[in-house]
Amino acid sequence: MRKQFAVIGLGRFGSSVCKELYKLGHDVLAIDNNEEKVNNMTQFSTHSVIANGTDENALHSLGIRNFDFVIVAIGDNIQSSILCTLILKEMGVKNVWVKAQNYYHHRVLEKIGADRIVHPEQDMGIRIAQHLVSEKIIDYIELSDEYSIVELIASEKVAGKSLAQLDIRAKYGCTILAIKRNKDINISPFPQDLIDKNDILIVIGHKNDLKRFEEEGL
Ligand code: ADP
Repeated sequence: MRKQFAVIGLGRFGSSVCKELYKLGHDVLAIDNNEEKVNNMTQFSTHSVIANGTDENALHSLGIRNFDFVIVAIGDNIQSSILCTLILKEMGVKNVWVKAQNYYHHRVLEKIGADRIVHPEQDMGIRIAQHLVSEKIIDYIELSDEYSIVELIASEKVAGKSLAQLDIRAKYGCTILAIKRNKDINISPFPQDLIDKNDILIVIGHKNDLKRFEEEGL
């Protein structure tokens, strides 16, 4: 279903969120107070406007209240990011996602009702580090302090075996959500499905169990 998004702040983070949402077929309003940033986004958004994210009247006249999601991606200017978030929540925007700059920024955003707070640099750093330490890990998504989803490359050890034979859930406490093979993806695979070498396994579980599976099971 087509959703309505507004992205405020079109730096590296905001502009890539904006482009991707637009590419996925959603309506995206791109906002920045810098004309050049707005012009760069015209072909990657439904509408792009020059406006100050801390100007309540401007946000009001853009009808920001009616958007399903508003992403506040104002970078370094923590004060503007906080004020913008506060205005959006006071106006009654349902879902406000904000990029936080640091821990204190995060805490203030939490207090004023931001619905989701993201730390893209830190998250990406963790994912890259995970990838660096193990050539089996392709991607890594942290769900909570304890649980994650990882993409692992199937080694020789599991090649030609079925999920039932491997019995990963009983042995390691992790669950294979999907198996990617070249361009095909098998979601919710059956126990009799076989794994090939170099398949990509998308696995969910406790971090300790995932580590054990990666080190001993693959
Ligand atoms: P990133 O780290 O994602 O590249 P930047 O700090 O470079 O973040 O980008 C933040 C963007 O937010 C810039 O394009 C800047 O012009 C914009 N911005 C800053 N303050 C405001 C504001 N009050 N209203 C709208 N846009 C703003």
